[in-house]
Amino acid sequence: MTAIETIGELFAGPGARAYLGEPVTIGTHMLQAGALAEAAGADRPLVAATLLHDIGHLRKETDARHGEAGAQWLSQWFGEAVTEPVRLHVAAKRFLCAVEPGYFGLLSAESVRTLSRQGGPMTPEEAAAFAALPHAMDAVAVRRWDDQAKDPEVTPPSFPHFAELLGALVRS
Ligand code: FE
Repeated sequence: MTAIETIGELFAGPGARAYLGEPVTIGTHMLQAGALAEAAGADRPLVAATLLHDIGHLRKETDARHGEAGAQWLSQWFGEAVTEPVRLHVAAKRFLCAVEPGYFGLLSAESVRTLSRQGGPMTPEEAAAFAALPHAMDAVAVRRWDDQAKDPEVTPPSFPHFAELLGALVRS
């Protein structure tokens, strides 16, 4: 199976139909997030990262592990411009809670609930170290689309809409 077929199967599978405490399924959430990044004119690796940011959840990883594990799995096909924002998107929530007044208030109840398991807001030292990482600001961008992509009124494009964009990013 190709990378796109393998990922497409996850989007079509039972893992994608789980709600994980949000008003939309995880599959819908990821597709909404990818569509938001695309509509914002993000470059292709960042659209892909946003679409795939919760791939670890589709593979049944826990809240604390899903960024790291998802990035690791995706790295068999994609470079760091895709995998690093995925890996760092959980940390980006902890970062934004530390540096941006008002960000915490934007989080869904479920995101607040998982925050403590993910380590809570960063300390100022942790936030400075995070900001210095390559792709940290891409991870912050993913995080903002992630937070907006929980709208039960929005029907996102289906997975095949993104297949060509993803396919062009797969390492040959
Ligand atoms: Fe998410």
